[in-house]
Amino acid sequence: MNQSKEQRILNFVLQNAVRGDPRSVVDTIDKYCSQKEWAMNVGNEKGLILDKTVEEVNPSVALELGSYCGYSAVRIARLLKAGARLLTVEFNPEFAAIARQMIEFAGVQDKVKLLEGPSQEIIPQLKKKYEVDTLDFVFLDHWKDRYTPDTILLQECNLLRKGSVLLADNVIFPGAPDFLTYVRESPHFQCTNYPSHLEYMQVEDAMEKAVFLG
Ligand code: SAM
Ligand code: MG
Repeated sequence: MNQSKEQRILNFVLQNAVRGDPRSVVDTIDKYCSQKEWAMNVGNEKGLILDKTVEEVNPSVALELGSYCGYSAVRIARLLKAGARLLTVEFNPEFAAIARQMIEFAGVQDKVKLLEGPSQEIIPQLKKKYEVDTLDFVFLDHWKDRYTPDTILLQECNLLRKGSVLLADNVIFPGAPDFLTYVRESPHFQCTNYPSHLEYMQVEDAMEKAVFLG
């Protein structure tokens, strides 16, 4: 069989997780990726930092850059209050299709909208096409060389308000040094670093929280 790893992850979830139970979907993906095949989901260790940040912010409108198989989208969506929504952006059509099925199986499809395309094309459309005023929370987890330009684009498009929270994954591994320099040196952001480990590995990694100050 010529299945992709991502298809195998989805199949494992369809066969082993409880439909309509986001926690079960997240745990089942973690089980597969820690025991069978590594994959670039944020994973449980950094996922706990993500959960805590989402709970603190309690966003009405959240944006995720990089959906992949939908792991973090399901993780975020399960914490959203009634009426809140997550927009998640993915430019790889195969991954987008997997993520849609994962989101549907987890039962969070009413809270999540998957936008298929490159972040740099989607971000400027958020206000008009997707009726976003400002974003309360942004999870950056797409290709690392897009973190800085997309953070600049979010500001240029007036999508951030005083108190909007950005959370960036993998700032140590694979690393986003230019992003760390940019947000830490900008007077518009207040930053906190959360040391952690790369998903399903012992390798050092970290997440960076950057609160927009206006
Ligand atoms: N957030 C996901 C999770 O934790 O479950 C993992 C995301 S994975 C690390 C990064 C994803 O971003 C890949 O699926 C890749 O195709 C997508 N991606 C990378 N650059 C992108 C861009 N500029 N626009 C949209 N998607 C992008
Ligand atoms: Mg990541």
